[in-house]
Amino acid sequence: MGFSSALQSRAAHEALIVRQDAELRLMETMKRSIQMKAKCDKEYAISLTAVAQQGLKIDRADEMQGSLITKSWRSYLDELDQQAKQFKFNAEQLEVVCDKLSHLSQDKRKARKAYQEEHAKIAARLNHLSDEVVRKKTEYQKHLEGYKALRTRFEEHYIKAPSRSGRKLDDVRDKYQKACRKLHLTHNEYVLSITEAIEVEKDFRTVLLPGLLEHQQSVQESFILLWRNILQEAAQYGDLTADKYKEIQKRIDTVIGGINPTEEYGEFTEKHKTSPTSPMLFQFDETLIEDIPGKLQSSTLTVDNLTVDWLRNRLQELESAVKDCQEKQLKMIEHVNGGSPVANGSIISNGSNTSNGIQSNKDSQCRQSKDLNALRCQEKQKQKLVDMIKCALNEVGCEELPSGCDDHLTLEQTFIENGYNNEQQRSNSTSSPGLGIMNELMRRGGVLTLLRGRGRHFKRKSTPQPTTPTTRCRQGRFNKLQPRSQSLGSLSISLSTNRPLYEEEWFHGVLPREEVVRLLNNDGDFLVRETIRNEESQIVLSVCWNGHKHFIVQTTGEGNFRFEGPPFASIQELIMHQYHSELPVTVKSGAILRRPVCRERWELSNDDVVLLERIGRGNFGDVYKAKLKSTKLDVAVKTCRMTLPDEQKRKFLQEGRILKQYDHPNIVKLIGICVQKQPIMIVMELVLGGSLLTYLRKNSNGLSNRQQMGMCRDAAAGMRYLESKNCIHRDLAARNCLVDLEHSVKISDFGMSREEEEYIVSDGMKQIPVKWTAPEALNFGKYTSLCDVWSYGILMWEIFSKGDTPYSGMSNSRARERIDTGYRMPTPENTPAEMYRLMLKCWAADAESRPHFDEIYNVVDALILRLDNSH
Ligand code: ADP
Repeated sequence: MGFSSALQSRAAHEALIVRQDAELRLMETMKRSIQMKAKCDKEYAISLTAVAQQGLKIDRADEMQGSLITKSWRSYLDELDQQAKQFKFNAEQLEVVCDKLSHLSQDKRKARKAYQEEHAKIAARLNHLSDEVVRKKTEYQKHLEGYKALRTRFEEHYIKAPSRSGRKLDDVRDKYQKACRKLHLTHNEYVLSITEAIEVEKDFRTVLLPGLLEHQQSVQESFILLWRNILQEAAQYGDLTADKYKEIQKRIDTVIGGINPTEEYGEFTEKHKTSPTSPMLFQFDETLIEDIPGKLQSSTLTVDNLTVDWLRNRLQELESAVKDCQEKQLKMIEHVNGGSPVANGSIISNGSNTSNGIQSNKDSQCRQSKDLNALRCQEKQKQKLVDMIKCALNEVGCEELPSGCDDHLTLEQTFIENGYNNEQQRSNSTSSPGLGIMNELMRRGGVLTLLRGRGRHFKRKSTPQPTTPTTRCRQGRFNKLQPRSQSLGSLSISLSTNRPLYEEEWFHGVLPREEVVRLLNNDGDFLVRETIRNEESQIVLSVCWNGHKHFIVQTTGEGNFRFEGPPFASIQELIMHQYHSELPVTVKSGAILRRPVCRERWELSNDDVVLLERIGRGNFGDVYKAKLKSTKLDVAVKTCRMTLPDEQKRKFLQEGRILKQYDHPNIVKLIGICVQKQPIMIVMELVLGGSLLTYLRKNSNGLSNRQQMGMCRDAAAGMRYLESKNCIHRDLAARNCLVDLEHSVKISDFGMSREEEEYIVSDGMKQIPVKWTAPEALNFGKYTSLCDVWSYGILMWEIFSKGDTPYSGMSNSRARERIDTGYRMPTPENTPAEMYRLMLKCWAADAESRPHFDEIYNVVDALILRLDNSH
């Protein structure tokens, strides 16, 4: 069924027009879309070209020479460029297609118009005739009515007229005849018009309209054909599966397929070929420990009281790390052998996304074996450290850990800007948590005896060794020992026993290790002492044997004492056993006990000191007025708080060690130290006036220039003495001088002192009495006696200002800043000009320009003489 028969109706005709309009609109839309596609394709082509160029840029590097990956990449980019060109070409062709579509649209528009006009034309003739028929019919009716009326009239006249003639009748007849003629004419015209209309209508319906429709159908169809062709063309230029593209893709596939992992690095390896690297050497830099001989040894772990806990912790950490490694390895091996899914997941998780199953499997195996190797290495490395630490800790065995701290390098005294004021630091603690064994020994005093009442002899079976000056123990339990050369005061040793350990002459209480070492000079010299570690009291046997060895007395579960040999009920018995048997204390050390070294003269018994009243507070503890039972002598006793750490206790005793050697009226005298038990104490001459600073402040009104100068001379005398002994005080200040009832000044507080010509502080500069300290010591940590001279200048200033605070109103750092820029304190009121001049000399920025104490003493002495003479 074609247009000609099916679309004859008016509605169909209108629908055909509407359809053609829709087609034209569709054509427009298509044209626009194809235009846009062409534009997009062009842009894509441009971008693709840019991409290809960009990609080519990054592979210029020489390092990739010979790389198949690079070669493929280049080819791939070339092909991309080809693709871009193809895209561009196709886009241009699409534009041509667009033009064609435009033309087609124009032609179609014309065809539509022609159809519409033609249809209107043939329809117009039919319409015209139809109108004509209607008009003719109307006319016919009108004439028929006229005829009928005239005929009626004529008949009336005719019948009525007697003669059948007459003018009237003739007139009526004439009119009637005319009407009749008109009717007949109209009739004929009507008949003709109907006939024509019939013919036209028939032609319209059977010939013209079908012809027009048939023609229109063929026009439409030919447009569709052209249209289809255009679309085909458009599709063809967008076909990504077109041969051209296929060829490009094929070339890309070929070149990428050419990448061969095993050949990839051929050229590279050839180019960079070297012989296997020699192992890197990690060596301990010996220069690091040049200045600390003995303490730290190259490539050797240091096991001492400072490091042992750390080492043990580290050992634990490392051991658990080793265990961890081993467990991980086990899991991994289980997995490889088809282990649990958990292990499975954790090991190959990274490769599980790989699409290439075989490769992924291979990769995962490779990774597993790599991980396994890494874990093995880790285990081996950690195990090595474990072995090293274990070995180092085993080395120490039952020997006491050496002290790791070098007392000479620390500065822990607390200084507060305006002198000592350490109230907050002080503690009233009276009990020491670390006195377990000692307390027990004391408690068991009468029971824990050397002989346990069995009258044992302590005579050495072997020939006694020659004694040395340090073996001053009285003949007694250690038979055949040279009689003690020095008096032991009230401390007597009885041959019979029954006394506590701390009463033994060879028991040195908590005498610091440094002191102990000083006392043991020849192989075989030994003594027993107490030490506190981690709040635990330990009894230590110190022996000189190829150096110094310190053995901790081991306590058995039954409360007996031993080293490596048999246990004994008392420490004394244990020591006697070692001494008489001449067996080494430990096999490893080979140390044999030959001569007990007894307490020195200045090692007093704590029980000989009776504390009377507190007269001051020091850094480490309270200072008491006390009495020595043995001599009834009034003394000053500095106590050391029992709660202080070992390190601090050692520092406390440092003052005693220094003072021990000095004997000068202007230096406070040491009488002894009490280290037999806690609290450890330093016993000194009692200087009744107390601290010079307090004295100056209290007596500010009653002090004359002469007295002040006398104080300066005393201090200078004491310092001259110290300088001659190469002792640097480092903390000379009014607060650290004592004054006796005759206003005589004595230098005290040697806690920071050093017996060296020059002392360089490498750390701990924080707690320094800044306002008393010379710039070179503050800035470079360099201490000499000339630094003491600077402090002496400040001391003079304190004396003349009657206990004022130096650089009052300035902070430490401000004072330091100002001194560095040349500022010096003004003279205190009523200070003799010469004395102020001397102060300024002491404060010379250049240390070498400062006077030595000898000169200072002479200047002050001369001034005093002059003053005395003038009165
Ligand atoms: P530390 O050195 O521990 O700080 P000090 O030497 O400063 O202790 O002493 C604190 C206080 O104890 C001094 O200010 C002083 O009053 C008093 N003092 C110290 N030693 C004696 C002594 N030998 N004679 C009299 N009093 C003393």
